[in-house]
Amino acid sequence: MSEPFRLIRVYSLKSFFGIAVVALALVFFYRAIAVDALKQQETKFNVALAQSLSITVWPTYSGFIRSAKTLPVDRLTAEPEIRQLHHDIAEKVRGLKIIKVKIYDSSGLTVFSTDRSQIGEIKAENEGFLVAMAGSPASELVFKDTFSAFEDVIENRNVLSSYIPIRQTADASIEGVFEIYSDVTPLVWDISRTGYTILGGVTSLSLLLYLFLLVTVRRADQIIKRQGQETQQRQQAKIQYLAHFDALTDLPNRTRYMEILAQAIRRAKDKAQGLGVICIAIDKFKIINDSLGHELGDKVLIEVARRLRASVHDGGTVARMGGDQFAIVIEGLSSQQTATFIAENIIGKFGKPIHEAGHEIVVTLSMGITIRQEEEEQDNAAQVVENAIAAMRVAKDKGRNCFVIYTREINAKAHGRFELEMGLRKALANREFVLHYQPRVNSETGRVNAVEALVRWQHPNQELVRPAEFIYLLEDMDLMVPVGEWIIAEACRQTKTWHDSGYPKLRVSVNLSLRQFRSDTLLNCVRKALGDSGLPAQYLELELTESVLADDIRQATNILRSLKELGVSLAIDDFGTGYSSLSYLMHFPVNCLKIDRSFIGDVTTNKDSAALTTAITAMAKSLGLETVAEGVETSEQLRFVTALGCTEVQGYLIGEPLPAEKLTDSLLDARSFSLTRHLIHMVQT
Ligand code: C2E
Ligand code: MG
Ligand code: MG
Repeated sequence: MSEPFRLIRVYSLKSFFGIAVVALALVFFYRAIAVDALKQQETKFNVALAQSLSITVWPTYSGFIRSAKTLPVDRLTAEPEIRQLHHDIAEKVRGLKIIKVKIYDSSGLTVFSTDRSQIGEIKAENEGFLVAMAGSPASELVFKDTFSAFEDVIENRNVLSSYIPIRQTADASIEGVFEIYSDVTPLVWDISRTGYTILGGVTSLSLLLYLFLLVTVRRADQIIKRQGQETQQRQQAKIQYLAHFDALTDLPNRTRYMEILAQAIRRAKDKAQGLGVICIAIDKFKIINDSLGHELGDKVLIEVARRLRASVHDGGTVARMGGDQFAIVIEGLSSQQTATFIAENIIGKFGKPIHEAGHEIVVTLSMGITIRQEEEEQDNAAQVVENAIAAMRVAKDKGRNCFVIYTREINAKAHGRFELEMGLRKALANREFVLHYQPRVNSETGRVNAVEALVRWQHPNQELVRPAEFIYLLEDMDLMVPVGEWIIAEACRQTKTWHDSGYPKLRVSVNLSLRQFRSDTLLNCVRKALGDSGLPAQYLELELTESVLADDIRQATNILRSLKELGVSLAIDDFGTGYSSLSYLMHFPVNCLKIDRSFIGDVTTNKDSAALTTAITAMAKSLGLETVAEGVETSEQLRFVTALGCTEVQGYLIGEPLPAEKLTDSLLDARSFSLTRHLIHMVQT
């Protein structure tokens, strides 16, 4: 984690440093300006003095000065003019702050200096001299530890020396240079004093401002810190919330639910009272999600959560266990009667469809209820939930939209189911699925028109398992689509083999489950199976039950149309058991109705079944649809349905579902055809 930002420390250090820099810079700046002004002013004064000297002194000595360079230095120093000059100049500058005067001739020779030791020195290279010779005065301020002035040697002085050109008139040529030294120490001191005053003033004002800002910054620092703490607290609360609640529905999540349940169990034990747990799954939620989109799926979940909460009021806690599953814990629940009442109340809350984004979504629930009796030893929350889930599975198996109360038998079944699930996960890879084929015979010719492919599972340690025992599990486990793909491919392959071995008109019908029908991959899967096997599309028929089609009629019609475009034919399986709405039959591009065997089974003994079978056949005829009578077991049934004019018959009387190789023999065996033909003929006469 990065270091927290220390506002106070940063502020105090940086601004302190800032104040010091600003104050010093100000003083420095002031000093530079003040010294410059001093230099200008003193230079002006010295120029005036030099002018006065050049008027009063120069004319007298100019001849001497011009000839000076011809004399050796010791003679020059001893010349009487020098003494006289010293005297005259001293007279002139008396009372002024001038402490030394020097005169250079135009070649830079020091012709005169009030400090005689300097006479004779050559200053031709001196910068000030050169500037003066170029026509302008030049000044320089220096500090001298010792300085030999007119009268005395003086110490610790600020000395301004000015080089001033000497010319008789403004436009005359320069004849020499005066160097005038003035003692400006008091003035420099004044500047320094003012500098210190400014430094003091600025620093005190800055410190005042600094203190004022420090108070403000401290306050800001406290506010920022408090806000930081609040943000941290909020984040922690959010993390806590997310760890225990479902963000979509605002309900406690599984973790929280298990905590709540564990506490409730403890209380139930202490008070010696019952406790109920209801596990709830939304029926076919995956289809809602897949067909209407996740956004709408989420809205459905929110609405389901709302209705569940409304149905238990304060009497229980509702939680979302994940996906489409919810759970409720109801303290004090001890009788099946109350449990039934609560469950029915919940079902009642879902009587009305959910309206979202122009869709009317009918939601049904499968519920499993477990009641922990007071005398029970069952303390384990996970086990209680497990039991409710097992009961919920039974409710699903019973056809959904219902509730089941947990019993010990369910536990045993749940265990069996677990074993089955484990086995099914490996079955496809281990090639344990097999297809059996049941003949469908033309009721007029007695020829085998088609075969229905029916899947079986060759469990390694069990008898052949029938589809009723595992298809729903494959659906639940999301395995139906891959297994279904194999079934379609295998049925096409086998039928093509029959075509190639002398039975070129044989059709095969394959059952499609809900998941397969709604799967995005269905069309590709059918196309691939036909392509890979080389079976022409018209020899493949797909069977769908009414419940599969009734789920979302508009979407179902679209899927059927796309399948139809591939060239395959379509049949409605188990017709008569579902939502047999005549109006949708008109919309569906189907070729065939397979009349459910529950009607055929008692068609000769039950008037209603007979009437229904008669009506279905007549209706199919008028719509131009073929009919198949399923589950024909007796000659009476065969006679009845052939008399009605059913296009095809299927049932144990004609032939049981058989493995491909066994069926091959009877298909190709001329005697078995004539047997069937004979059978039908016998029935018809
Ligand atoms: P279904 O499609 O209606 O298949 C007919 C069922 O009735 C088959 O049961 C068949 O063996 C049975 N049956 C045929 N004739 C008679 C008869 O005369 N009397 C009696 N009592 N039963 C007869 P099976 O093979 O156990 O299949 C049951 C259901 O499982 C099928 O009903 C179908 O819905 C489903 N199923 C079977 N194979 C598949 C498959 O490959 N994929 C899918 N999705 N479902 C399948
Ligand atoms: Mg079928
Ligand atoms: Mg059927």
